[in-house]
Amino acid sequence: MASAGSYLSWPPIEGIISDLDGVVYRGNAAILDAIEAFARWQASGLRFCFVTNNSTHTPEDVVRKLEGFGLAITPGEVVTSAVTAAELIRAKYPKMTRVYVIGAPSLVKAIVGAGLEITERAPEAVVMGLDREITHEKMRIAVDAILNGAAFIGTNPDLLLPTTTGFEPGAGATIAAIAAATQVKPLIVGKPEPHMIETALSRLGTARDSTILIGDQIPTDIQAGKRAGLPTVLVTTGVPAREDSSLILPDFVVSSLGEIDVTAALSGRSPQRRG
Ligand SMILES: [Mg+2]
Repeated sequence: MASAGSYLSWPPIEGIISDLDGVVYRGNAAILDAIEAFARWQASGLRFCFVTNNSTHTPEDVVRKLEGFGLAITPGEVVTSAVTAAELIRAKYPKMTRVYVIGAPSLVKAIVGAGLEITERAPEAVVMGLDREITHEKMRIAVDAILNGAAFIGTNPDLLLPTTTGFEPGAGATIAAIAAATQVKPLIVGKPEPHMIETALSRLGTARDSTILIGDQIPTDIQAGKRAGLPTVLVTTGVPAREDSSLILPDFVVSSLGEIDVTAALSGRSPQRRG
């Protein structure tokens, strides 16, 4: 790996796939450098797509949130784990396949939007995301369906989510409970799995080696980018990473998205490679 301060050739950047929380905003506060960078990239015609493990917001919710920060994007520029879960099921099963959903209204909307039928009667697939109204009865229906052969899909593996006062269990915690009960391993959609990155790539229509992945967490964002074969950029604006014992290293590290100079990148120069 090159020492800090040297510049290595950067492939022309055609597209950007980026995480949201910790990169573009922190909770409800915009990260201004990032908003400005995306506005600049948008003006220069660069294509981008946001990816989020959060299945409790629709792409339209994200559009509204970014609009409030002064960045106007379209719902097509947002890929959520809910949307990707729905697309993965539709890629494998015909229209009106019966799906049982444990999750937020946004997950239900994504499943219905993909032409699938929501039912608790003999479902062919069970999809689980974060459900703040989860009950033992919902878990019983999921367990029964999976033991009867239904496919088991989880939106994202996040075990703990930060709250204003501490933490709450993430979707991964309840998915793990159903996996333990049934002894069936779920198909996980969200980062660090590469499925959302693939969905975003196909929307952008850009080449893999000229599409960069930006994220603030190595075990999820950077791992997913690596698995999808993309150059990865870690931005250090998010919550400090919890102890990461993996040997995964991002290709580049920046402290602000303002450091990614697309003009320089397009002319073959690059941000500093991690030293
Ligand atoms: Mg993040």
